[in-house]
Amino acid sequence: MPLKTFKGGVHPKDKKELSEGAQIVRLEAKGELTYLMNQHIGAPAKPIVNVGDRVLLGQTIAEAGGFVSASVSASVSGVVKSIGPKVTRSGDEAIAITVENDNEYEAVEGFGEPRDYDKMSKEDIRAAIKAAGIVGMGGAGFPTAVKCTVKDDSKIEYVICNGAECEPYITCDYRLMLERPEDAVLGMKIVLKLFENASGVFGIENNKPLGIESLRKATEGSERMSVLPLKKKYPQGGERMLISAVTGRKINSKMLPADAGCVVLNYSTLIAIAEAVTKNIPLVRRVVTVTGEAIKTPSNFDVPIGISSKELIEAAGGFTEDPEKLIFGGPMMGAAVYSDDLPITKDSSCILALSKDETAGLEPSECIRCGKCLYACPEHLMPIRLKNSADAGDYKDFEAAHGLECIGCGCCTYVCPAKRRLSQTITMAKRYVLAEKKKGAAK
Ligand code: SF4
Ligand code: SF4
Repeated sequence: MPLKTFKGGVHPKDKKELSEGAQIVRLEAKGELTYLMNQHIGAPAKPIVNVGDRVLLGQTIAEAGGFVSASVSASVSGVVKSIGPKVTRSGDEAIAITVENDNEYEAVEGFGEPRDYDKMSKEDIRAAIKAAGIVGMGGAGFPTAVKCTVKDDSKIEYVICNGAECEPYITCDYRLMLERPEDAVLGMKIVLKLFENASGVFGIENNKPLGIESLRKATEGSERMSVLPLKKKYPQGGERMLISAVTGRKINSKMLPADAGCVVLNYSTLIAIAEAVTKNIPLVRRVVTVTGEAIKTPSNFDVPIGISSKELIEAAGGFTEDPEKLIFGGPMMGAAVYSDDLPITKDSSCILALSKDETAGLEPSECIRCGKCLYACPEHLMPIRLKNSADAGDYKDFEAAHGLECIGCGCCTYVCPAKRRLSQTITMAKRYVLAEKKKGAAK
């Protein structure tokens, strides 16, 4: 049978060989920890501690600021040094709580205490996920408790684990597939308890044969879980592409995965669910890949959230050369950053330091009307028309050409022989249009 996939997409060099063999190494923070209040999609979290307070590992230091929001817990014990605005990696400002680590790791009461999820009700499970402040850890940052709350649980037919990790370079989920398959399977069992009619599908790209084998072993004998190898193609891990590959169903920007009978959760997120529900451990740590040819020893680190990216880069041996570009995330959808000293957030999967050689020949030139961007777009949009309307400030045409359906995957930019910054411009225009709509709705 042909491998499952979707229409469109591209085949970038995945460069995973740099870090895929690097076992996960646990790091503790040497310096202070910075917790941003906007580490997720939705309303920012609200600080509930004061400067000078001593906080404990696992203590909630900021509560969710609304239904679509997530709380934040301390990943160390220490003293709150400051609460105030900080420039984030996107260049915007957000409120941040800074904690001076006392290196004692004194935990809040109940932290790590075992719980039997079989004896927990659906409400208890959802409450545990919410209290843990879990968000999509693949980069989307959507609050998981909201994803797991649908109108009718019985209508969910598939819980899909996104194990595609299709962005080049990133290997944190792959390492977790090899090193912690049982924890992800436990997370899946817990989520399946919420959706009694659903099957659990681990969708994994076929460039990870060891990951597929590891999950197959871990799900052996299960009637409700299976592993589905997917064709290696970018952006296979996009929510819409994954749903289409697994179920053949289509969703658009006005629909939720639940409208197609699906709940989609990233691989690391499932592990976070298992920890929160069965051990009462909130989302205070995550695995981050530090890679690129400008990194001396590409690595996968298990780190406390809030640690500075500088500490991760140092632990990976530092730079081999002044990086030409430093990116949080992968090369297709990640964001280039202005500093190597930025806090790791719940959705930081990768720090990518690209060398001069890796970025050579990226200067844009005139469009040669080759049409490649049209064929590559997995949403079947016309990227060049969208860029032209955005450049001209013609947002009516941008919307008429379905610009709001863009998922920001970067395929168009990747295939463009003229190296035109298509996805970057389209993503900015989409943000602008959505912000204008929000302003209009608020009036
Ligand atoms: S237009 Fe948007 S969805 Fe289409 S390829 Fe470009 S970035 Fe991806
Ligand atoms: S791929 Fe680039 S050069 Fe080709 S049509 Fe699209 S924008 Fe123009």
